[in-house]
Amino acid sequence: MHTPVLSVRDAVVEYPGGVKALDGVSLEIRNGELLGIVGPSGSGKSTLLNIMGTLDRPTGGTVVIAGQDVTTLPDRQLSALRGRWLGFVFQQFHLSDGLTATENVATGLLYAGVPRRQRRSLALAALERVGLAHRAGHRPHELSGGERQRVAIARALVHAPTLVLADEPTGALDTANGRAVLELLTQLNEEGTTIAIITHDRDIAARLPRRVEIQDGRIVTDTTARGDSVRDRSGAVGVAP
Ligand code: ADP
Repeated sequence: MHTPVLSVRDAVVEYPGGVKALDGVSLEIRNGELLGIVGPSGSGKSTLLNIMGTLDRPTGGTVVIAGQDVTTLPDRQLSALRGRWLGFVFQQFHLSDGLTATENVATGLLYAGVPRRQRRSLALAALERVGLAHRAGHRPHELSGGERQRVAIARALVHAPTLVLADEPTGALDTANGRAVLELLTQLNEEGTTIAIITHDRDIAARLPRRVEIQDGRIVTDTTARGDSVRDRSGAVGVAP
């Protein structure tokens, strides 16, 4: 059995005042998976994303990425690891207005140790993968919302991360563009990229091969498209996918 690309074990995140945003969460993501982490507002999705993305540390438990426990790593090593292993897609795209699509995508290589002269060709190749080669010289304000998100996805992919974390990637888009972005993420997964999508939208989650449902800081179901329950409410292991 190969090592999971990311594994969260018994994670607890407690905020000052005693709010437990995560209350004993365990989750393994394996190479090649496409999963949705779904739950209502306030259920703990962002908190889970932040610890999976090494942006925050859990109060208790561990997060292991590519075999390494990241909960105890110093900040400098953490950002190096993040730059190498992870790619992020955000609801609001977070592109720089003054940069072209190519330049925005190339920023995804800044912390991956790629020499400057290679950044542009890698960025162009990533734009091609998301179907935007013809918009390479455009700035964000010259692009539609769906196109901006595709640029952001190219930026997340350009350094060939082990895992892409997408936080409500369709949340700022209309239905048609949202669907197109979801199709793109599905296609990229079929090409080999491991992707976790955080969403409050059950319709989006229903289209994904694996759904991890979170409520009140706990995982309540973890299923595959065939409906097999990997883990039920009691935490017992059910039928494997
Ligand atoms: P979601 O992303 O599913 O909307 P969050 O992870 O943002 O949920 O929040 C989970 C719980 O933790 C909520 O009850 C929220 O109010 C609480 N919470 C989140 N961030 C903080 C914080 N910085 N301080 C105190 N409580 C927080």
